[in-house]
Amino acid sequence: MNKATVERCAELVANYEGVLARITKCATSYGRNASEIRLLPVSKYKPAEDILALHEQLNIEHFGENYVQELVSKASTLPKTIKWHFIGALQKNKIKDLAKIENLYMLETASDYAKMKKLNDLRQEGFPKVNILLQINTLNEEQKAGLLYSNKEAIVEVVKQIVSTCPNLVFKGFMTIGSIEESTKTDGSPNKDFQRLVEIRDAVKDLEGVGELELSMGMSNDFEEAIRQGSTQVRVGTAIFGARYTK
Ligand SMILES: *Cc1c(COP(=O)(O)O)cnc(C)c1O
Repeated sequence: MNKATVERCAELVANYEGVLARITKCATSYGRNASEIRLLPVSKYKPAEDILALHEQLNIEHFGENYVQELVSKASTLPKTIKWHFIGALQKNKIKDLAKIENLYMLETASDYAKMKKLNDLRQEGFPKVNILLQINTLNEEQKAGLLYSNKEAIVEVVKQIVSTCPNLVFKGFMTIGSIEESTKTDGSPNKDFQRLVEIRDAVKDLEGVGELELSMGMSNDFEEAIRQGSTQVRVGTAIFGARYTK
């Protein structure tokens, strides 16, 4: 595989360390321990060389990808020491491809039980279990992805089903993308999407078989607020890799 240029490597390292420094500063100012917050670089549309540069120079292990085909191709060429997070929309017919990626660490956009059961059943014996975050549609808009925030019974039910019938999956918590309106408002009030994710976490945290839970919330333009509200993982693309072309 080609290597990123010396200049590109330096840029990526500086960007990553800059974001990490902001996370640390922000966590400290809110009385939190920065080590409990994972910075997930989101590398969609970015070349495998960029990922390799961060992996080799800073030992970064976790990376997030949005498209199954792109992830399959990157996972096949990059070191197996990478821990992949799938954070995109998942179609039923792509689940088999995802299941075959041995170092798939986490699926963050799970929302329906049938798909998770399929992933569970297709996961090869001997491969690590896949960690699962349920994506919550925190604004309750019908057209958005994820389980509706308002339907807590349905969320609890899905959690119970995963825990009791999917031995190859580990339920780990929740993820939201949230709305532009909430992440760009300037009145200083808490972000409602993040608030609602915390609420959902609290509603299931004492269920049987459920361990320590993660909250994946916050992106390039709102991760500091997300940390203030309890995020344990921020997903950052643009602030590390630069602007992307859109489809
Ligand atoms: C692209 C993407 C990100 C990263 O967004 P940036 O604004 O570039 O930081 C985070 N989460 C999800 C689900 C994404 O699709």
